[in-house]
Amino acid sequence: MARAKVDSLLVTHLPNVRYLCGFTGSSGVLAVHEGKWLFVTDGRYTSQAKEEVTGASVVISKGAPIIAAAERLSAAGARAVGIEAQHLTVAQRSMLNHALAPARSRETNDIVETLRMVKDAAELAAIRRAVVTGSDLLPVAVRHIKPGAREVDVAAELEYAARRAGAEAMSFETIVASGPRSALPHGRASQSAVPRNGFVVLDFGVILAGYCSDMTRTVHVGRAGREQRRLYDAVLQAQLAAIDAVRPGALVGDVDRAARRVLQRAGYGRYFTHSTGHGVGLEIHEAPRVGRGGNDVLKPGMVITIEPGAYVPGKGGVRIEDMVVVTEHGCEVLTPAGKDLIEI
Ligand code: ZN
Ligand code: ZN
Repeated sequence: MARAKVDSLLVTHLPNVRYLCGFTGSSGVLAVHEGKWLFVTDGRYTSQAKEEVTGASVVISKGAPIIAAAERLSAAGARAVGIEAQHLTVAQRSMLNHALAPARSRETNDIVETLRMVKDAAELAAIRRAVVTGSDLLPVAVRHIKPGAREVDVAAELEYAARRAGAEAMSFETIVASGPRSALPHGRASQSAVPRNGFVVLDFGVILAGYCSDMTRTVHVGRAGREQRRLYDAVLQAQLAAIDAVRPGALVGDVDRAARRVLQRAGYGRYFTHSTGHGVGLEIHEAPRVGRGGNDVLKPGMVITIEPGAYVPGKGGVRIEDMVVVTEHGCEVLTPAGKDLIEI
């Protein structure tokens, strides 16, 4: 906050609110001024706030919590109030400025997100549970993949099993991309039927105790030809090289480069069209972004995905994704599922 030149901070992004005070509902803001924390929500959350919120005094407001929080900050003598610029609408900001006067709002970026990058022991335990629960869904999906089955049918079975296993929700819309659609890096499950021969990309995750899992495996329906095996193997080698590059002190850009170099040497460089990975925690995509030229320095306790892919238009694509945690000397792969090519 001192670096951002603010004397108070208004936290409105709900995952940040949850991270700081434990509130899991859908309406609430957290304000901090001179070491005092105030949590403001509305009447629907009176008992939930009492149960969940720690480290902040709770205020139930009649109107919009963000306005009530702003008025209190102003009354408490705040002058420069940090707002989370990436998470406020233009309309909210003008309402806010009105309620804050004579205090002023000042844009801040990633103050809480930076803290969230390094997970504590309780967070890691929650993430491990989510990852194992997610990984157990792979055999379920594989059982339902057969020529003629629709991608949505495979996703439905996988998501049903996730719920039965206790998942609060999927961490994002399940990707089942088969045949030529496997060349779409974000091919959400569609009504397309699985073809007799081709790749199927499965990318999915669950939320348990608020924490997300994320994994991708690519399987092949029918026998994989020489070309398909070469593509699969190149992506797998790229993924292993990137995992090998994960250690404290390394830049995320180095990890990305390790994966990219392998795919370039195999001739697939231009088909690797996204970043190598991203942080995962309370949100499915959070800091750091593990991409080209990234300057974030890896530290023990950070949890990131390693997910290079190559997508050849008209032919098909392969992506392999694990979650890893940075340790004192390197990293530990959290995702237990194997990575040998499965032929169905
Ligand atoms: Zn994924
Ligand atoms: Zn991912």
